[in-house]
Amino acid sequence: MTVTRRQAVGVLAAAGVLGPLSLWLVSGDAATSSLEGAFPIQKTDAEWRTVLASDRYRILRGHSTERAFSSPLNAEKRAGIFVCAACGQQLFSSETKFESGTGWPSFWQPLGDDAVGTQIDRSWLMVRTEVHCARCGGHLGHVFSDGPEPTGLRYCINGLALDFVTAPGNI
Ligand SMILES: [Zn+2]
Repeated sequence: MTVTRRQAVGVLAAAGVLGPLSLWLVSGDAATSSLEGAFPIQKTDAEWRTVLASDRYRILRGHSTERAFSSPLNAEKRAGIFVCAACGQQLFSSETKFESGTGWPSFWQPLGDDAVGTQIDRSWLMVRTEVHCARCGGHLGHVFSDGPEPTGLRYCINGLALDFVTAPGNI
């Protein structure tokens, strides 16, 4: 049986587990969800190990987190697009990047409704909302409800899960 995100979130929301973010998760369409195994790009674990450098593999496939302030993309201020380091899917625009002070590249909105997916992450004795690439399922980071306007969301993303492509004429 497949449990959809809405079903899962609904149960958690009914149990009062998620707090204010659950309202957005249940009603919002800012991020669509796919659970593991349902992504357009499918590779075996051995194949991912072949195509990804070990530090990127640990994050994208192993759900690890890079050290704060370790990514050069944290300070990237040029105009462009941040794409998935595993499959090239366009994920975030520089126009929605902001300085969160957390040490990880932060965005207040994904690039389009279908760029990323989310699911509940119960690791480390916390209930967080995990964010992944909607095309390959690669783990990107988490989304929190303490971001700036206009969305109030903070997509806290590992720089190693991203590649940056500068806008044309903006090298
Ligand atoms: Zn991807």
